[in-house]
Amino acid sequence: MPELLDTLRLTFGYDQFRPLQREIMEAHLAGQDTFALLPTGGGKSLCFQLPALVRADRGLTVVVSPLIALMKDQVDQLQAAGVAATYLNSSLSSAEARSRMAGLHRGEFRLLYVAPERLMLPEWQQNLTGWNVAALAIDEAHCVSEWGHDFRPEFRQIAQLRDILPEVPMMALTATATERVRADIIKHLRLRDPAVFVASFNRPNLTYKVQPKDGPAKQISEFVKQRRHESGIVYCATRATAERMAEALVKRGFNALPYHAGLPAEVRSENQELFVRDEVNIICATIAFGMGINKPNVRWVVHHDLPKNIESYYQETGRAGRDGLPADCLLLFSAGDAAKQSHFIDDITDEHERNVARSQLRQMLHYAESAGCRRTELLAYFGEGYAETNCASCDNCIEPRDTYDGTIPAQKFLSCIYRVAQASRFGAGVNHLVEILTGADTDKIRRWGHNRLSTYGIGQELSRPQWLGVFRELMRLGFVQQTEGRYPTVEMTEAGREVLRLRSPITLTKPMAVPKAARVRIPRKGAIECDEILFARLRALRKQLADERGVPAYVIFGDATLRQMAREYPESVAEMHDIFGMGEKKREQFGEEFAAEISDHLKDNAKMAFND
Ligand code: ADP
Ligand code: ZN
Repeated sequence: MPELLDTLRLTFGYDQFRPLQREIMEAHLAGQDTFALLPTGGGKSLCFQLPALVRADRGLTVVVSPLIALMKDQVDQLQAAGVAATYLNSSLSSAEARSRMAGLHRGEFRLLYVAPERLMLPEWQQNLTGWNVAALAIDEAHCVSEWGHDFRPEFRQIAQLRDILPEVPMMALTATATERVRADIIKHLRLRDPAVFVASFNRPNLTYKVQPKDGPAKQISEFVKQRRHESGIVYCATRATAERMAEALVKRGFNALPYHAGLPAEVRSENQELFVRDEVNIICATIAFGMGINKPNVRWVVHHDLPKNIESYYQETGRAGRDGLPADCLLLFSAGDAAKQSHFIDDITDEHERNVARSQLRQMLHYAESAGCRRTELLAYFGEGYAETNCASCDNCIEPRDTYDGTIPAQKFLSCIYRVAQASRFGAGVNHLVEILTGADTDKIRRWGHNRLSTYGIGQELSRPQWLGVFRELMRLGFVQQTEGRYPTVEMTEAGREVLRLRSPITLTKPMAVPKAARVRIPRKGAIECDEILFARLRALRKQLADERGVPAYVIFGDATLRQMAREYPESVAEMHDIFGMGEKKREQFGEEFAAEISDHLKDNAKMAFND
């Protein structure tokens, strides 16, 4: 459909579709129900916005969304691109709501955003049949499922729309869906033989790193020092830590604010607003932060503490780089934190819940300690393979960890497990095994006679932390495993018995080193190189224009658009046609001012040249 591409260019200023966008739109426009599973930043909104504009019948697309805060945001962005869109929710005065309703009756809008509970009001059902509704889009569709992380009972009523508007195709969109949630969405929204589209969950513009935690306040300020003008989020496990980090960063001269459920609602929303509007560039937050923000230019996410599970880690880091430009994700990891979490888990009374928490922690630890590609690990969690052997944008791919011949220590450790199992009827925990290896003289050792084992004291060449490192490596390699329960014991796996029996060589990975301050930075893949001084000027102009209109800066232009201007130097509106993100309406509205700013800059500065 050529109209789709034309409208993409003209209205949004983008020159190509992101993966599956076109397919989703075409199926939808052909009248089919569709189900789109795209990662954050995958461009879900466009999947229903663009079809709304190319429809021959000029009908209305009704978008159901659970997040009131985001409705205004999306509508602001659409209006800035010249699209007739509006929203109705409880935040509007009744006069304003009435005038919007009148506009809907006159058929003035192409898109309407609403919360689900509103749709079910009796007078609405009549409205809907009178408004020439041509399409229904259900955003965050996982909210319909009790198995998702964000169940909203009112989403269950959406299906009734199918009785009111039986002919209208429905599109369901989400970034999170396990098999179970997927089936729930199809069932509870009553999707009819939907075309299902599942995009890759790989986020190629995100770089993943893990560092051992060692003085986190200092580590994080080193990290943000190299990113002075960028926006980022520091995720913390507790409210107190979030407060403390924000304070520590402010004390070091950074612009940071806390965000957590313990703050009064006004403070919370003000802090969020300041972040969204680029007044403050760092938010130190608990996981309470993030759902309701749409900010596309979050350039980094740091985890001060180990997240609860891989899924949360993926979602939280996923808030970085929605604009497709490079962004960095750093996890600070400490084995001590992990042990603490493990103790908390022991206190969970429900057995099923406890086991789930334990296995999630184990997966998270595996990720943190892995010497393999982080991206491959994350994708594997979602059951997706990754074809490349080196992603070139995670710490382990860029700088493979040093390995060493660990055959001797590994054999010692494995034999020790074997001997203990032979001598006692019960297994031993990892600390006890290490005490045997290092020849410690403890009550427990004497009581069980473990000082008479042939492996007693055979490992004095390594320290206890070093032995614990060997143990974690053997876990990672699948040669040993820990039992469940409050006092986990270590046992050998089939593979462990095999390498011990065959005396096979075993390669172990050295522990992660705490990086020196002056370490090379990971080059950013896909970065748009530009005249940074001009970029800063354009950013200031963008902020001024945004503030005048009371909208976030990204409603005016994304960073990619500014960066492209700061490398192409268009000095007139006519030269702006090919700038990314520069639709017709925006060019008309803002082109002149940006061109003037660029000309002004060129009075005192020469153009810089860039390679492609
Ligand atoms: P999601 O809801 O899937 O997280 P959004 O719909 O918010 O993603 O889109 C993320 C960003 O990507 C937005 O700034 C959007 O304008 C931009 N975008 C969407 N589609 C394209 C495209 N085809 N080309 C360039 N940018 C796009
Ligand atoms: Zn990698």
